[in-house]
Amino acid sequence: MSKKIRTRYAPSPTGRMHVGNLRTALYEFLIAKHVGGDFILRIEDTDQERFVEGATQIIYRTLAGTGLVHDEGPDKDKGFGPYIQSERMATGIYLEHAKMLVEKGEAYYCFCDQARLESLKKSITDSEGNIKEITVYDKHCAHLSKEEVEEKLNSGIPYVIRQNNPTEGKTTFIDELYGEISVENAELDDMILIKSDGYPTYNFANVVDDHCMEITHVVRGNEYISSSPKYQRLYEAFGWESPKYIHLPLITDENHKKLSKRSGHSSYEDLIEQGFLSEAIVNYIALLGWSPEDNQEIFTLDELIKKFDYHHVNKSPSVFDIVKLKWMNGEYIKAMDFDKYYEMALPYIKEVITKDYDLEKIANMVKTRIEVFPDIKEHIDFFEAVPEYDIEMYSHKKMKTSPESSLEVLKELLPVFEQLEDYSNDAIYAELVKYVENKGCKNGYAMWPLRTAVSGKQMTPGGATEIMEVLGKEESLNRIKSAIDKLSK
Ligand code: GLU
Repeated sequence: MSKKIRTRYAPSPTGRMHVGNLRTALYEFLIAKHVGGDFILRIEDTDQERFVEGATQIIYRTLAGTGLVHDEGPDKDKGFGPYIQSERMATGIYLEHAKMLVEKGEAYYCFCDQARLESLKKSITDSEGNIKEITVYDKHCAHLSKEEVEEKLNSGIPYVIRQNNPTEGKTTFIDELYGEISVENAELDDMILIKSDGYPTYNFANVVDDHCMEITHVVRGNEYISSSPKYQRLYEAFGWESPKYIHLPLITDENHKKLSKRSGHSSYEDLIEQGFLSEAIVNYIALLGWSPEDNQEIFTLDELIKKFDYHHVNKSPSVFDIVKLKWMNGEYIKAMDFDKYYEMALPYIKEVITKDYDLEKIANMVKTRIEVFPDIKEHIDFFEAVPEYDIEMYSHKKMKTSPESSLEVLKELLPVFEQLEDYSNDAIYAELVKYVENKGCKNGYAMWPLRTAVSGKQMTPGGATEIMEVLGKEESLNRIKSAIDKLSK
């Protein structure tokens, strides 16, 4: 029987959830759910310097908001807990595992002091041509006898535990997307597993946790790929089978630079604040690096679960295209159930409209026209007050209108609308049609000036008569009269 698929999302609580982290979480979730496996949340908070108060709550909120429901985590212990690294640390698990490696000769205590380590420093030029100082440990303490180690430990000399890497041969790591990555063992430093303060190093804790939690697939950003041989060495040292690793390509901005805070939309919370829908964000992020075999673009989370296959993840960097996300968000708004839409639209409508209009009608008029909720405001602000506009707006080549023709039409329509009792869109429209038939002109010849008069805009959600229905009789007539005045000057 094959193992149950278990994936994990292992965020470090350092602030808002970056789009790249959300993509990692989503792919981990999809890989598990595609085969009925478990998706686990583990909080990696051992790097105290980077820890940000409240960030764990952001992680919970984001997972709940996006529907990436975890099967196990700090709040749902299914026997693999604790799920928070600082709490795991308190159980002694990392030190215990480091000692296991010491026993096997795969790790050793190192008592070298700062001065000695300083003397081992040397300058190197890295692959980008930068000069860096590195310490390559010379295995000095690997040669201490058991007795010497005991003695030093007993006398309380500070120590770290280092991995005892071979100096010959190669270590080969296999990534599911990038394939084989090999390094010469001679290039591997004897990395620290347990620091002098007793904390595990990040890589070590990560490997121990993934093993103990029986994780089968690890998805992570490819900034980790260069350290992957170190992970492999740890698995080999323990004699453990390593999970499958899937390193994801970088997400860049439009300028092909790493998507950073400066873009203003690098985190899930930024996007929510900008009026994007969580479903649209998830849908868009799924496509950042992955595409289905057909060209489908709109997916529910359930459809993603069915279709997602990590073998089709792309290796080249993915560009975060806010224009595309906006388009997608607009599609979600169009398809949204009206009541839910109205609830979300209302705060934006109320920001610009204080008058006693039928706000549901206004909301309905813009539902198919906006991409994000804040767009609503610019579409409907004219309901509150007609903006300043130039009378040249009455000229429309195709409709054959001009300020003069418009003045005439408005003057003729005013009394028609004054005596009209029923101010529904249908009734107003019927009057307008009658007027146009009598005059022997095209609809637009009267519609264009009327719409300009009641809205002061070239583009409006809904036509003149719909707008008039919302404005009501008194306001509509006032606006037509003001337009007549404006055109008569
Ligand atoms: N805690 C790491 C991070 O937030 C995750 C690394 C991993 O997934 O292995 O970047």
